[in-house]
Amino acid sequence: VTPRTAIQIRTAFTLILLQLLPSFGYSDDVPLALRVGEACHAFEHLGEMGHQLDAAVDSGATVIYASGVGALGYEGLPAADLLQATCTSEAAYHRRAKEKGIKLVVGYLCATSIVKLETFDKHWTDDFRKQFKTPPSEWLQQDRNGKTLASWYGGNYNPACMNNPDWRVYEHAMVRMQLDVGCDGIFFDNPTVHTKGCYCPHCMEAFAQFLKVEGVAVPDKSAEAVRALSDAHKSEFMRFRTTIARDFFADIRAYARTINLNVLITANNSLNAPSVFYTQSVNYGYNIFEMSKAEDFIVLEDMSTQPRITADGKVIEYGPVLKLVHAIAHGKPVVDVKIAETDYHTPPNLVKLAFAESAANNASYLVWTTWPGQQRQKLSSATRKQVDLLRANQSLLNGGKPRRDVTLFLPFRRWQESKDCRALEIAYELTKSNIQYDVFCEEDFNLDRLVGAKILIVESMNVLLKSEVKVVESFQTNGGRVIAADSPNWTDEARNAIGTPSVTVVGPKTVRAYVTDFPDKTVVHLLNLNIERVNSFEDKVTPADNLQVLIEAPSPQVRSMNVFTADEVPAANSAKFEPKPHGEWTTVEVALPRLEVAAIVTLSSEVRK
Ligand SMILES: [Zn+2]
Repeated sequence: VTPRTAIQIRTAFTLILLQLLPSFGYSDDVPLALRVGEACHAFEHLGEMGHQLDAAVDSGATVIYASGVGALGYEGLPAADLLQATCTSEAAYHRRAKEKGIKLVVGYLCATSIVKLETFDKHWTDDFRKQFKTPPSEWLQQDRNGKTLASWYGGNYNPACMNNPDWRVYEHAMVRMQLDVGCDGIFFDNPTVHTKGCYCPHCMEAFAQFLKVEGVAVPDKSAEAVRALSDAHKSEFMRFRTTIARDFFADIRAYARTINLNVLITANNSLNAPSVFYTQSVNYGYNIFEMSKAEDFIVLEDMSTQPRITADGKVIEYGPVLKLVHAIAHGKPVVDVKIAETDYHTPPNLVKLAFAESAANNASYLVWTTWPGQQRQKLSSATRKQVDLLRANQSLLNGGKPRRDVTLFLPFRRWQESKDCRALEIAYELTKSNIQYDVFCEEDFNLDRLVGAKILIVESMNVLLKSEVKVVESFQTNGGRVIAADSPNWTDEARNAIGTPSVTVVGPKTVRAYVTDFPDKTVVHLLNLNIERVNSFEDKVTPADNLQVLIEAPSPQVRSMNVFTADEVPAANSAKFEPKPHGEWTTVEVALPRLEVAAIVTLSSEVRK
């Protein structure tokens, strides 16, 4: 398929989709190399273990996160001969990666770190130094009194300010150096602002601008006067902090695109645990809603929420987090790293499950392909099996519309008011019950977004703005139902309002089903969360046997079923299905003798008129 044909097909497809499905679907408008299923993201370095290209390639990776040249940036560049040697060897490594089928090499750069300030500029040539108006000691984040802020990470590390023009020039140089050695994009680590905020003159200038946009008068623009204003406008200052990384990415992206129009900019959006969904904006200025405006895709680095069951029966999953992130991601592709117990190694069946859970949620899992020698074969082949399955079936993973028996409002602005994200708790409840839902945030709170929705869940009517209450009233006038989840039996209320759910799983409580609609088929992702982590390289699967799944398909005719799985004992061959049409819909009863890890079931129908 030539690119032009691909575009034509995609356009035609999008038109069909728009006709049939009047409301929101997952974006189909992302670079091919980042599409779910097509992309397999891999970290190919861990601690002392670098350059694990072969393991990444064996695992089916197409996007690697390399560290070579960018990591040098931490300490302000080494001596010229070492720098040259590193650039040469990294360029060769990136060429080899491309020859082996890697589509994107993403370089690494820290957005804020200056390590060993005393020697940071020691090896700079006069030409390099000439670019800067001030020495590195003046690039640092500053406290309320304009004094240099110490690192909140500890160690011999000083935080540079992302608003500092000289720091940006330095970062531009580091970006150029990496593009020159063959990187296709840059992954920014640690794009954070000091827990106390930065009050440097550049931030104060930007904050004055921010206040103006907010309608606050700024009579005196001197740094000291604006610092005083920040005392009186704490909420605005807190919000301003969360825009600093965004503006930094926008600047870097614009610069990088003067060198290569296709450069991709992404960052560690942190979210180390679901519990920090709100608080990471307060504590470190990590705000996915703002950062996603200037990123080409979003990387999340969770440290404990790898889907699984614990020895004491606790079910852990990440799907609800992904749904909320999509609501604030401005349609950008979402990539998630999710590990268990802060261990970067994941055993084989849990790797498959992690991939499958991300794909079910229109996201791409990022795997660490940094296994010790004796484990490598087992883990790369398990990874490969799941990756190949998703890649072969990527048309089932992109451009669909998630089924929504209910739609959930995420008032993301509440990160300033509450430590806990109530909408995330609600999402977890819905996922646990296999209730199909999507999520939207305040930016999309309008009647268009609610077209086709029957039930809207809000955490409480009290969190709505006046304008949102008006939208809710119109939604109700048009027959929509609103459920406030601040009553104790809101889940029963939701179940009753839904009536026949889109999917019913008759089987263990650890099975999840995610339904997505396409014009000619309904796709159901099935996940078995009943997999226990034994250690870094072993897990224990308790399969779901004799699984029965009832699916409502939006078509009077369901003609065929397919089951795709990377399970060792595939259920596909002996799965049965029985369609029972009723009006414009069909209830399809699917019987799977065994689900080990994950499967994708497709029910193909005629396109509705
Ligand atoms: Zn600053």
